[in-house]
Amino acid sequence: MSENKNVANSFNEVVIGLEIHCQLTKLKTKLFCGCSSDYRGKEPNSNTCQICLGHPGSLPKPNRMAVNLAVMAGIALNSDISRRTSFYRKNYFYVDMGKNFQISMYETAGMSTICERGHVDINVGPKLKRVRITRIQLEEDPARLVHLGPIDLSPFTLVDYNRAGMALLEIVTEPDLSSPREARLLLQKLRSIMEHIGAYDGGLEGAMRCDANISIKGGTRVEIKNISSFKEVEKALNFEVSRQKSLLMKGLAVARETRHWDEIRKVTISLREKEAEHDYRYFPEPDIVPLDLDEEFVASIKAKMPELPDARAGRFVKEYGIPQYDALVLTADKGIADFYEESVNLYGDPKTVSNWLMGDVLGVLHDKGLELEEAKIAPATFAEMLDMIRKGLISGKIGKIILPEMVASGKKASQIVHEKELNRISDRDQLVKIAEEVFAENSKAVDDAKVDEKAAHFLVGQIMKKTRGKGDPKMVNDVVKEMLQKNKAG
Ligand SMILES: [Zn+2]
Repeated sequence: MSENKNVANSFNEVVIGLEIHCQLTKLKTKLFCGCSSDYRGKEPNSNTCQICLGHPGSLPKPNRMAVNLAVMAGIALNSDISRRTSFYRKNYFYVDMGKNFQISMYETAGMSTICERGHVDINVGPKLKRVRITRIQLEEDPARLVHLGPIDLSPFTLVDYNRAGMALLEIVTEPDLSSPREARLLLQKLRSIMEHIGAYDGGLEGAMRCDANISIKGGTRVEIKNISSFKEVEKALNFEVSRQKSLLMKGLAVARETRHWDEIRKVTISLREKEAEHDYRYFPEPDIVPLDLDEEFVASIKAKMPELPDARAGRFVKEYGIPQYDALVLTADKGIADFYEESVNLYGDPKTVSNWLMGDVLGVLHDKGLELEEAKIAPATFAEMLDMIRKGLISGKIGKIILPEMVASGKKASQIVHEKELNRISDRDQLVKIAEEVFAENSKAVDDAKVDEKAAHFLVGQIMKKTRGKGDPKMVNDVVKEMLQKNKAG
């Protein structure tokens, strides 16, 4: 047993590098043609043209806005922006690309991808960790493949070209990540950055995907394909860490291969042995001239850079006086940060807003498995609820009771309170009557309360329980105090 433990300890160092594919969903059109980038939910193979289907003779034209966003991403990730870059054909034979090559950028002698050598910092607990970015490149998304059930058991593959040609930004990291959790934090950070530069809409299915290279230090590297979100990346990598460790502990070798993350069964499955890079036979795309990005152009993009998550978190601490921890949680998602600022503008009291937003709203979203963008609650209704609590119209407890429905339905707090008859009891006579019942049922606590404040709290609690949290807390306290005094005197 103890020997096994020692073996396990020697496999503790995990090495992870990521290749993130982020769709530039804020663009109106695809990367090389005029087809809409809003392909989700459309009839399969209806959002296509000769260019994104790759018909012979069709001429791709790079989307200028995509180039601008790639440069913005490069600046946001502290990268060198290449003066000259060009597109290549990455040749491969697979059903998701009818023309048998993908147009992508490539790093080769004398030529670089659009951005190289950057870094991004992530907060791992209280520590800041720097992850190096190897390169950033633009490429076209392949068609979407649809399987019946798990990929390895499906009797057929359906191909939908609506997605083909979508602008993808590929961001490649150095193998600087040392746990599945760090991988999730990195993806979250990149997502927030991409949202802040206006490249990407959070919450769109499959808009940010990643491939991961993972090994146990000194062991063979395995590539995991098709991880669809930052929520899945941690699960997929945790599974893979256990799988590789258990092989190594049995004295078996880890095969160098490409594996697929199956979200439903929560396992990685072997797809194929890793192909070497020269198999792709990259060669320059003859239909697109190289892009020259002169200093003036890069300076003009720099001048237009919006506020990024780190700077925004710093501003939240300074401007709103909230702890850094709160600021980091809130700015990890642009939607949440925007929601926060709007709510503070409406309600004031930044710390109360952040407590309710981080503790309660995010808790409800987590329970329901929703992103804020999918929820119906708006800053205005949220601020109104907080205001009702401040004015004593409802208790904080009632606020917590109605919040899940506000998130799900978008209804106003006042409406839910009315519908559920949750109105606060501030009828003094009614509260006195309930208090008399409680006093009669708890005579020992009433005696104890003369010397022990805890017993008085207990009585208040019992009354609140009988009112199902609707009693006006201040009035209940007053009633109990008065009755105890009367009792003492009598
Ligand atoms: Zn097209």
